[in-house]
Amino acid sequence: MSQQHEFFGTSQMCEPEVIVPVLVPVAVAGAYSYKVPADLDVRPGSIVRVPLGPREVIGAVWDGEPDTKVNPKKLKSILHVYDTPPIAEDLRKYIDWVAAWTLGAPGMVLRMVLRSEEALEPEPLLSGVRYIDGMQPDRMTPARSKVMELVENGMAWTRPGLAGAAGVSSSVIDGLKKQGVLEEAMLPATPPLPDPDPTLPGRKLTDLQQGAANQLCEAIGKGFKAFLIDGVTGSGKTEVYFEAVAETLKNNEQALILIPEIALTNQFLNRFEDRFGVRPAEWHSQVPPKRRARTWRGVANGEVKVVVGARSALFLPFHRLGLLVVDEEHDTAYKQDDRVPYNARDMAVVRGHISGFPVVLASATPSVESQVNAKLGRYTKIVLPERASGAEMPTIKGIDMRCDGPERGKWLAPALVNEIQQTLTNGNQVLLFLNRRGYAPLTLCRTCGHRFHCENCSAWLVEHRFKGKLVCHHCGYSQPIPDKCPECSNSDSLVACGPGVERIAEDVSALFPEARVLVLSSDLPGGTERINREMKLVEEGEVDIVIGTQLVAKGHNFPLMTLVGVVDADLGLANGDPRAAERTFQLLAQVTGRAGRIHGKGRGLLQTYNPDQPVIKALLSGNPEEFYAAEIESRENAGLPPFGRLAALIISGPDRSLTEKFSKSLAVNSPSSEGVQILGPAEAAMALVRGRYRFRLLAIAPRSVDLQGFLRNWLSVAPKPTGGIRVQVDVDPQSFM
Ligand code: ADP
Ligand code: ZN
Ligand code: ZN
Repeated sequence: MSQQHEFFGTSQMCEPEVIVPVLVPVAVAGAYSYKVPADLDVRPGSIVRVPLGPREVIGAVWDGEPDTKVNPKKLKSILHVYDTPPIAEDLRKYIDWVAAWTLGAPGMVLRMVLRSEEALEPEPLLSGVRYIDGMQPDRMTPARSKVMELVENGMAWTRPGLAGAAGVSSSVIDGLKKQGVLEEAMLPATPPLPDPDPTLPGRKLTDLQQGAANQLCEAIGKGFKAFLIDGVTGSGKTEVYFEAVAETLKNNEQALILIPEIALTNQFLNRFEDRFGVRPAEWHSQVPPKRRARTWRGVANGEVKVVVGARSALFLPFHRLGLLVVDEEHDTAYKQDDRVPYNARDMAVVRGHISGFPVVLASATPSVESQVNAKLGRYTKIVLPERASGAEMPTIKGIDMRCDGPERGKWLAPALVNEIQQTLTNGNQVLLFLNRRGYAPLTLCRTCGHRFHCENCSAWLVEHRFKGKLVCHHCGYSQPIPDKCPECSNSDSLVACGPGVERIAEDVSALFPEARVLVLSSDLPGGTERINREMKLVEEGEVDIVIGTQLVAKGHNFPLMTLVGVVDADLGLANGDPRAAERTFQLLAQVTGRAGRIHGKGRGLLQTYNPDQPVIKALLSGNPEEFYAAEIESRENAGLPPFGRLAALIISGPDRSLTEKFSKSLAVNSPSSEGVQILGPAEAAMALVRGRYRFRLLAIAPRSVDLQGFLRNWLSVAPKPTGGIRVQVDVDPQSFM
């Protein structure tokens, strides 16, 4: 800690003033300086409350020297130091690293760590009562004896808790207190949870699984190492990394498991409980704030041993993290696009590297990036080529919609309808996959051609028939489905174009009136609770045909599901995204991988207009190596990630022409640098979002170039945005919309 010696005018104030840098949650480049009052004790990492302009904010004492150029008389003082462990040195380093990588402000990265304000103060104790040993009431009544039975072991109870458990009114408890049998006692708001037990027996692993588990376990407690588990759907990747979690617990360290769709994890949490005896702590946006605060504190003081969480769990202040698992590592949900855009999969590896523990990435369809990292020896690859149950992989076939498609206005080809019928006859389940929510993606007027689009975005309004609304999927704007055209006032002239899952359900119900049909989509009312309930119904065989969006592509095991029909296999391939091929391959391999997972005999049918498209061909041939080899080669030739590096600048503003003009001036002012190529500005595919016009610039550089340095230099010399224009930097963009 550095000290500054200053002498103030008054004689009492000759103590040396301590000034420290404090990182505050604002978008500035570095820390601000604050004075430390004599009665407060701080060190780097201490979490503090400080005044900032008219507000008070939470920040952390940071490393380095305080800024000495500021007049000390103008410095404000730290107001409060929270009674919580300081942010450890490795986490501080990590925060700085993430900020430098994303070109974000370190204070904004810190905010991801300190998000739960409630977590910083210990939870107040509850008042309650406890038995005073040896005391007896003057007169024993049946009610009193019930209470006595419960309190005899000396445990403290809350007054209503004890009354409820004993089945008596609280006046009975008050009476016992008055008699000196019970005394006032304080108890924690929640009793600490039991620890996961690593010594419980896991499943008997297959030889291959055991070999994989051994490799992981041997790395626990020995510093950084990155693994890629490339294992087909159902190969037991989860069972394998659970062994590594057990080893970590035996080594007295904490473990973090990231999963992409955290809200849908009931099945996962149950499996964890089967293996370790208790549920792990959960961390995601839908956990209530109080529980989240408790988890944060437990993670910081080491009481919470295992966290299963969404990407934001990466920024929890672990006391002693010893293992980080990124399940479904290819998933796009790991990329955060707003505020600090970061990719949790990559940042997980960095966290392991900085703090010195192993990181395990797992997927049935690894990202091209991770495949290349494995090929180059940066990651140790572990392959699980077979399903644990011994079930063979599903057979995948295409349906050429150009010649074998359905009649007009219908969406399921006869061949698919046939297979569905057979599957139902055999008592098995069908999944129809279409990654499009709602009833129809576009509504238009047959008379005048009017198309319903969002006023704030360049997007069509999607009809949601269950809700009776036209909805914008980008900004959430919605309006009731009108009964006549707003342009020509013709009634009965509006038509729905193209299918969403709700429309497929309509077709299916007409074709199979007896079947129990369920639409699984994230936007239906009832939230995660409903989804969990419905997933369970499917698991238990209470549903015959599931129609789902990508929600169903992940994670769950449905023992009776043997047929997966992909309604539109070409859907993701149309956009110009450099990762479109990879994404489509992953999504369709995952979703067809739902078929016959446990008992085999699974079938996948892809409805396609492009059976010769390389991605479709790779899926049909059941040869992922071929797909990866071709995709890696084409990325290498084009200088695309991971062989080259990309960064996007997204310029948005309320006025289209000013935003475009500014984007052009940004492009013109890009510094010349060997090898860096600037593309654009181009109007974004989503040219208007929430009333803001959007343009994009793309920087492409070879791996050898310090792209962040280039961007920093660029933004420092470029004109500053005005008039509500914002520039967002997205290093390694995943979305090109
Ligand atoms: P993945 O994560 O690779 O998709 P899971 O770990 O979910 O695979 O395993 C798929 C299914 O097989 C699960 O129901 C799991 O309980 C079961 N399973 C995995 N390994 C074994 C094993 N060694 N013995 C019995 N069942 C297993
Ligand atoms: Zn019209
Ligand atoms: Zn909109």
